[in-house]
Amino acid sequence: MTAATQTAKGQTGKSRCWCCGQPRSEDTLVHLGNHPEVGICISCVHFLRRRARDQQAIVVRQTLRGAAESVRGQVMARGWHQQPVIGPALQWLNRHLPW
Ligand SMILES: [Zn+2]
Repeated sequence: MTAATQTAKGQTGKSRCWCCGQPRSEDTLVHLGNHPEVGICISCVHFLRRRARDQQAIVVRQTLRGAAESVRGQVMARGWHQQPVIGPALQWLNRHLPW
């Protein structure tokens, strides 16, 4: 038995994914750079990638929503939405923004 196939619990040939807990062979686990003791299976790596992408999209959406609210507040404070030329365009834009 090599060191790579030993586990802390003495099981032979398998380590456990730190995410899903499923037994996996050591060579199929991806290890964290700063914590090499943490091994994650490929399925969980893809799952975490999707979650990271979704989380990033949420942060971008919140940032854009905050910027739009700030601009909307400035437009309202200045009364630009009631101006004859730019007002209808701003109102149209406000109706068609996704938030
Ligand atoms: Zn896993």
